[in-house]
Amino acid sequence: EREWPRPDRCRIITIANQKGGVGKTTSSVNLAASLAMHGAQVLVVDLDPQGNASTALGVEHHAEIPSIYDVLIEDMALADIVVAAPEIPNLYCAPATLNLAGAEIELVSKVARESRLRRALDAYDTDKFDYVLIDCPPSLGLLTVNALVGGDELLIPIQCEYYALEGLGQLIRTVDLVKAHLNQKLWVSTILLTMYDARTRLAAQVAEDVRSHFGDVVLNTVIPRSVRVSEAPSYGQSVMTYDPGSSGALAYSEAASEMAHGGARK
Ligand code: ADP
Ligand code: MG
Repeated sequence: EREWPRPDRCRIITIANQKGGVGKTTSSVNLAASLAMHGAQVLVVDLDPQGNASTALGVEHHAEIPSIYDVLIEDMALADIVVAAPEIPNLYCAPATLNLAGAEIELVSKVARESRLRRALDAYDTDKFDYVLIDCPPSLGLLTVNALVGGDELLIPIQCEYYALEGLGQLIRTVDLVKAHLNQKLWVSTILLTMYDARTRLAAQVAEDVRSHFGDVVLNTVIPRSVRVSEAPSYGQSVMTYDPGSSGALAYSEAASEMAHGGARK
């Protein structure tokens, strides 16, 4: 594959939306895979107790595996949990295991509870990576707050359906609070429209609303609904290797290319 330009410094991108099933994990995994396939060094941090990103990258995440839980709660170093994703060179994963579900509560009584991921990233040599993508759980709890404090950029996947914009206000308010008190650098750099069904007028309407509301941070590329995208994780693969010629893989590759070439800002 042709190489894309690599950023001067590691871009740490949090992928969040407190709604479930909008394509956070699918986007994390497939954007990461695309970037890695075009020469970037990429780390996916799985911050969802379900461990779906770990699964989709073919990375083991049963209870005994050292995981992001140990980093957040037991002060383990990221270097001790990061593993290579088996399918794709240059792609790495910090896996999540089910005990992460308890971290939401356990974090409450920890010192600097909102900044534990940031501290772990600071202590880690992230500059060996071009991109760190942080996949969030579907909530605005302390795990997502850790991801917002740990990241420099926020990517919001939005599913093209009726209630898409509802609830985004809550996310944006949380982002503003984090910016004011915990991470000045944070900004919404990228919005990605997912699961687009070209046959419905509704999808087109939602896409238009999102573009008029958020302007040029919305990537030009829209991810279509594609069965191949939803099949890939059960084979422990991204759609980029599972079916590289599928519409979903091509779209994720286009979206990743936009991000690598400066996103919709250019
Ligand atoms: P989230 O992480 O936001 O909860 P997921 O990425 O897990 O959302 O996606 C939710 C479900 O939708 C999953 O079963 C996934 O395989 C499926 N899915 C995601 N994107 C697409 C797509 N473009 N086409 C078809 N199915 C998709
Ligand atoms: Mg998910």
